[in-house]
Amino acid sequence: MITYILFDLDDTLYATSAGMMHEVSARMSEYMITRLGFAPATVDAQRKDYWARYGTTLRGLYIERHIDPQAFLRFVHDVRVDTYLQADARLEAMLAQMPQRKAIFTNAPEDYAREVLRVLGVERHFETIFGINFIEYQSKPTQCAYDKVAAALPVPPNACLMIDDTARNLVPAKKMGMTTAWLTSTADRYGDDGHTSADYTLATIYDVAKIL
Ligand SMILES: [Mg+2]
Repeated sequence: MITYILFDLDDTLYATSAGMMHEVSARMSEYMITRLGFAPATVDAQRKDYWARYGTTLRGLYIERHIDPQAFLRFVHDVRVDTYLQADARLEAMLAQMPQRKAIFTNAPEDYAREVLRVLGVERHFETIFGINFIEYQSKPTQCAYDKVAAALPVPPNACLMIDDTARNLVPAKKMGMTTAWLTSTADRYGDDGHTSADYTLATIYDVAKIL
């Protein structure tokens, strides 16, 4: 019996085709080049390496280059959300008819996540945002991020559904006993090709109601 749902934010609550993550990603590379002195030709490979070893670019830079994570997060999320997204009445209606309690579990900062929810018009449906500050920069798919979230949840993991467009982010959740749903509408930049043990595969976020 699923009574609680953890939603990823970016490229999950809205489609990749919105293009916003493209700008966020470009700003990460820009930060590495202009603030940290990486040679432009090396940035893609370096980020791919961080992604594989640490989960995110932020975590790689934090561990290996000792950057100020807040300065990095402020820079990369300084995007005009409302130029990419708009109110999503269909999403709002789906969330409204789902009786489960809902939260966001994201590697992005909480204030940015709140702005995305506000622009989508769905903020009222989410009781909590478990963002990068809450998980203390231990980005998904690091196990400690899930342990922190699970400890804060009002229900045991087996009453929880987690939805994410990054397949590997679902692996720790599944191991802890959560039900997992992989959103396939996005192809991951770094070859997250969907080899996952997720319980469900969703073509769009609007299919969540169907599996409950
Ligand atoms: Mg995502």
